[in-house]
Amino acid sequence: MPGYVYDFAEGDKDMRDLLGGKGANLCEMVRLGLPVPPGFIVTTGACRAYLSTGREPAGLADQLAEHLRDLEARTGRRLGDPADPLLVSVRSGARFSMPGMMETILNVGLSDASVLGLAKHSGDERFAYDAYRRLIHMFGKTVYGVDDELFSDALDEAKRARGTTDDLALTVEDLRKLVDRYKRIFAERTGRDFPQAPHEQLRLAVRSVFDSWNSERATVYRRQERIPADLGTAVTVMAMVFGNLGLDSGTGVAFTRDPATGERGVYGDYLADAQGEDVVAGIRNTIPLQELARLHPGCFAQLMSIMDRLEHHYRDLCDIEFTIEHGRLWMLQTRVGKRTAAAAFSIASQLVDEGVIDLDEALRRVTGTQLMHLMFPTFDPAATPAPIAVGIPASPGAAVGRAVFDAHRAAAASAQGPTILVRRETNPDDLPGIVAAQGILTSRGGKTSHAAVVARGLGKTCVCGAEALDVDVHTGQFTVDGVTVREGDLISIDGSSGRVYLGEVPVRPSRVARHLADPSSTVDDPVVRAVDRLLAHADNRRRLGVLANADLPADARRARRYNASGIGLCRTEHMFLGDRRVLVERLILAETDEQRQAALDALLPLQRDDFEQILAAMDGLPVVIRLIDPPLHEFLPSLVELTATVATARALGRDPGRDGVLLDAVTRIHEQNPMLGLRGVRLGLVIPGLFAMQVKAVAQAAAARVAAGGHPRPEIMVPLVGAVQELEAVRAEAEHVIAGVDGAPRIPIGTMIEVPRAALTAGQIAEHADFFSFGTNDLTQMGWGFSRDDVEAAFFHRYLELGIFGASPFETIDRTGIGRLIRIAVTEGRAAHPGLTIGVCGEHGGDPDSVHFFHEAGLDYVSCSPFRVPVARLEAGRAAVTGR
Ligand code: PEP
Ligand code: MG
Repeated sequence: MPGYVYDFAEGDKDMRDLLGGKGANLCEMVRLGLPVPPGFIVTTGACRAYLSTGREPAGLADQLAEHLRDLEARTGRRLGDPADPLLVSVRSGARFSMPGMMETILNVGLSDASVLGLAKHSGDERFAYDAYRRLIHMFGKTVYGVDDELFSDALDEAKRARGTTDDLALTVEDLRKLVDRYKRIFAERTGRDFPQAPHEQLRLAVRSVFDSWNSERATVYRRQERIPADLGTAVTVMAMVFGNLGLDSGTGVAFTRDPATGERGVYGDYLADAQGEDVVAGIRNTIPLQELARLHPGCFAQLMSIMDRLEHHYRDLCDIEFTIEHGRLWMLQTRVGKRTAAAAFSIASQLVDEGVIDLDEALRRVTGTQLMHLMFPTFDPAATPAPIAVGIPASPGAAVGRAVFDAHRAAAASAQGPTILVRRETNPDDLPGIVAAQGILTSRGGKTSHAAVVARGLGKTCVCGAEALDVDVHTGQFTVDGVTVREGDLISIDGSSGRVYLGEVPVRPSRVARHLADPSSTVDDPVVRAVDRLLAHADNRRRLGVLANADLPADARRARRYNASGIGLCRTEHMFLGDRRVLVERLILAETDEQRQAALDALLPLQRDDFEQILAAMDGLPVVIRLIDPPLHEFLPSLVELTATVATARALGRDPGRDGVLLDAVTRIHEQNPMLGLRGVRLGLVIPGLFAMQVKAVAQAAAARVAAGGHPRPEIMVPLVGAVQELEAVRAEAEHVIAGVDGAPRIPIGTMIEVPRAALTAGQIAEHADFFSFGTNDLTQMGWGFSRDDVEAAFFHRYLELGIFGASPFETIDRTGIGRLIRIAVTEGRAAHPGLTIGVCGEHGGDPDSVHFFHEAGLDYVSCSPFRVPVARLEAGRAAVTGR
């Protein structure tokens, strides 16, 4: 019989798979001898068994009963005993933290009979009825899906009747009536009375936590965070301790360092006379943790020493939840805390300085995605108007968008342009809106409120607790100092300062991005220093080279400043646009060899000049120049427009002239599926002299650079090869051309691997290639058989929703399918051609997850857009230290 239930004393922090993060860390705190209320954990295995069969697995009920008896023996109380009841909390806790996504039920064990026992024993009748109404509310909502608002409205009504807005002002009598009202709501909505048997409550509560694994919001969150859908959640059952027993009690959330900036020193919020849910929900306003030193000096000192202990034990920033019951401190939760991107870099670097971790470990603790966030712009202080309000800076960044007051509308409106979701406070139901919005603004709650925690996790800008705002979500507006902002009005929020502005505030580049673009500028900023340090370490560790995709000399210079070790893809097609289009038109319209050659001769010096500049910008480093790839029609006016122009001219009895000739040409080369048509190497083999002209331009440019004392390292890359014969033909011609250019250096000739057939015949192709470069954009497009220009808008959204994709395969390499093609090509390519250099130049080259795959697959380098070069350098370093 599998063990489905574990006592806190039976686990440790490494058992997260089985006991969930929360459960495993509670066990660890027990091992450390910290004050944790007693309890036990129902495993993720039990949850998985339940979810796959729809029934509790055999043995679970007995094991639950046995652990409950044990808990009763230890606390000296029985669950729901009318005389002196043991009450328990029932909480979810998966392997990965999913804050607020699943369910929690407190005060399980209360009933009409035991509420009297609780009142007697606590000496506080008001507290007892308050606890009972909380149970009916949470239980009704969670276990039976009763609409949350029915309970909140009843509570609001009771407060209105009492002429107050504060829960604490309700009397015993008010609460007793409220309990009756809640029970009626429960009975009306569920068709049964509120269950009075404590064991039945516990069983149903555990089941509903299991069920909450598959709730809509949990599913959306997992998809966003790439958490596997089949892990299941554990359930933690713990003896209740109460923070709402008067002013000598309270509850709080704390971090061992500031999770927003990474600054040293504990950081947190405390709420007297309240239960934990009140802090996280941001329902009442909290006081800073430091004030606890005044209120409960003993507890504060104990808490500080525990936090210090936890940070040393976990060797990382920890966040905790605690409760003080009648002056006694209890630890309810700890975990390695979520943090902003800036804090992640600062803390990792600080911990190295403090001798707690080494640089490899520091590198494992930051991500390319975080670095990307740090490279986002911020508001330009010179251009910022006076703020209309200042809230708590909860998650950094500068967000500008239209105010939307409802999460579902925000999700819809975001398709039309950026939005800011404005709420009094958020709850887990708002997740789709938070995901879709550019930023989140709330008028209630602190840095640990739901909005703040979720926004930080998703890397969204968030300002919360902007109390000056009077938010009315029903009419869709907020007012502040006589200003009214309605749904659809533009606002700007600064997640680093907490400022809220009317209208659109201009943004400016980040300090990190600025420094990376100009490393000679010295910046006195701890985050910039930490980024620099960890990037330097990543550069020391990484095996993968990082090159840039750059077509213009300016891009090449930028890439070099970002520390790219060359250009992995210089697309030559832009060199055929603009003023040069007419030359291309002449090439396409040429009717004789002479006309064609004249057009090519006119293009040659222009191309040579482009290449010379790029080779100069990248002197000493490789520059992989790809011969022209797109279909020719891209260089001509559109068929539809031309048809209309010519038809109009003819209808008016005018000679369409040149347009008529162009129309004939465009009609001739029109293709139904141009992406699968005459492009790349096919074009080079069909239009005589085209590739030869490009190769000659490269060779002449290189010769000119050599003559000028430079060290040019051009390489020529052939696109869209699917058969070795194509490469052989192009190669023979290119070698002939290069041999004819005096003073040209050796120019390696390689091929893109972007047609599935090329990957499958890589062994043959490798014999004629000096290098391979995976064009993962086309390889994905052709491997899946869908057009990259069309499908993202057409159906990717639905595919992501259905979980067919975890992420768009155009963003993150599909390891299983396209990844397999890549592995085959690497293996067979290198077998035929030992030492073959292999890289990737599709968009995936700058995607964090994909970089790890390319490292594992044994590639030599990745090439990506210049802005992503630092991200790729960091991830390549991380890939190299992973598993060390
Ligand atoms: C590719 O297909 O991945 C590639 C780099 O080429 P392009 O995007 O220009 O087709
Ligand atoms: Mg391509």
